[in-house]
Amino acid sequence: MNKIPNESLEFNQCQQAVQRLNDFLSNELQQEEEILVQNHLKDCQGCLEKFNFEITLLRTLREKIGQVQAPDGLRQRILGLLHKTN
Ligand SMILES: [Zn+2]
Repeated sequence: MNKIPNESLEFNQCQQAVQRLNDFLSNELQQEEEILVQNHLKDCQGCLEKFNFEITLLRTLREKIGQVQAPDGLRQRILGLLHKTN
């Protein structure tokens, strides 16, 4: 296993990418920020998997929410959360 050069820098970039995950998912990032995140995802398998997981989860939730019988309050809360990502 190779030692990762600039490990702290790498870690810092990952942290920044993950911090932007929610905004990325809800399309609230500035264009430059979105480019930064996408560039990082090209280089970083770990973050790419994390982002893909979240994106898949959101998509699945959105597809399922119409079919699921949830208590009204919970359903409204979820729909409210999902609405931000449309
Ligand atoms: Zn990363």
